[in-house]
Amino acid sequence: MEYISTRGCSTAPSTFDALLQGLGEDGGLFVPKSLPHLTFTADEINHFTYQDYANKIISAFFDDIDKQALALAIRQAYSTFDKEMLPIQKLKNSYVLELYHGATFAFKDFALALLPRLISLALKEKGITKKLAVLTATSGDTGSAALRGFNNVDQTAIFVFYPTRGISAIQKKQMTTINGTNTFAIGVEGNFDDAQKALKKIFTNQSFKKELSNRGYLLSSANSINIGRLVPQIVYYYYAYYQLVKQGEIKKGEEISISVPTGNFGNILAAFLAKKTGLPINNLICASNKNNILTDFIHTGVYNANRPFYQTNSPSMDILISSNLERFLYYTLKNPAQVKELMDTLQKQGSYTIENLSLFHDVKAYSFDDEQTLKAIGQVYRQYNYLIDTHTAVGFLAAQAYGQNSNEKTFIAATASPYKFPTAVAKGLGLVAKDEMESLEKIEAATGQKLPLAFKNLLRQKETQKKVTNKEDIAQSILEVLIP
Ligand SMILES: *Cc1c(COP(=O)(O)O)cnc(C)c1O
Repeated sequence: MEYISTRGCSTAPSTFDALLQGLGEDGGLFVPKSLPHLTFTADEINHFTYQDYANKIISAFFDDIDKQALALAIRQAYSTFDKEMLPIQKLKNSYVLELYHGATFAFKDFALALLPRLISLALKEKGITKKLAVLTATSGDTGSAALRGFNNVDQTAIFVFYPTRGISAIQKKQMTTINGTNTFAIGVEGNFDDAQKALKKIFTNQSFKKELSNRGYLLSSANSINIGRLVPQIVYYYYAYYQLVKQGEIKKGEEISISVPTGNFGNILAAFLAKKTGLPINNLICASNKNNILTDFIHTGVYNANRPFYQTNSPSMDILISSNLERFLYYTLKNPAQVKELMDTLQKQGSYTIENLSLFHDVKAYSFDDEQTLKAIGQVYRQYNYLIDTHTAVGFLAAQAYGQNSNEKTFIAATASPYKFPTAVAKGLGLVAKDEMESLEKIEAATGQKLPLAFKNLLRQKETQKKVTNKEDIAQSILEVLIP
């Protein structure tokens, strides 16, 4: 597969190049030059496992990766998931896709368990003997999923920088208990913004790059713009749809709509690509919290990042610049030069405007605040005896708002386990607790829904990664552990 940048001025001749480069030289994001059309026979629908779907769909995109090598990578990546990789819960006309049965209890595991193995294949294919030092700043779910994903993967080392302030105890524990020889979780004094800014500087620090190179490492990042994070996410929409066809819940070819709690626009873009490659999807429902920049954009055509930033109880959606939106613009505007212009304007002015709203003909958008989110958690529990987390609650509310005018079936992407955000979930259930641990206990006691074993084990584990650095010393903290 060949790739072109959303801004039209860069290309990558193969999947391997796109995986290793991450971003186009023109600042755009890579998209495949052509999209496959995916169909499934009755026999496939009856017999395919999740991994079979992954093999068929991912190899249709990444057709230059050796099929056997890809199959092995997929098998290894998904061996860390629960046996039932993607349970689906029916709530009246909706189907909740539980995308949180991977190692770190959020949907990001689907991509971050596989990406490191794809990168490792790319290094071998390109004959690169240096190792890759992958750096990422995290405010939550990406960090732990990246640490798990890169753990013990050949030719890589992963460094996750998390803020010492503004991170939950459980999220911190998920990072500081991982003990690979190539995995490093390092606290940065300050908040997420401090960590993110300090890390950005490192990517342009030439003497640091030279020091890394002396130690045998190239520099890379694990953020969600890499095409290797997007494609694995397309798989679960196909899988869920055909599972329900198999169970007789939906008819083959019947159109459904999909509600996705959205931050960086990656997960909903995967649904968009599922539609473009042949899955019968009617509307994409973009669900946001109080940071409603996408809702406004989809309703008015004005993308305006000059607005207050809110910390909400669905923190993984607290984002003002949704980088994967650029890929949506590429496909709908069909004019890379215009995409480039819009992105330049965004960079300069913090906003841009789209005149033609027909771009959004199959996208609906809704936003909900913290209070509505908590209420929804309580409502879903009382009505269905079913626990959802805050992000999923926002998706649920959007699906409900959308469904008022149709009796179409909707999918709701459940992006994190309710146990990952116990403080808010306990509140939503009307429970009072003094901290996260007590919230967990009270949720378990009140609902009788047992904490998953993997979660219990995590809580028992000792934090072994204790390194904390000032933001000025991030580079040094990396070089210290990468002994030449
Ligand atoms: C990352 C994340 C999201 C947002 O997904 P995007 O692909 O960035 O839109 C939503 N919910 C949870 C739990 C997440 O971790």
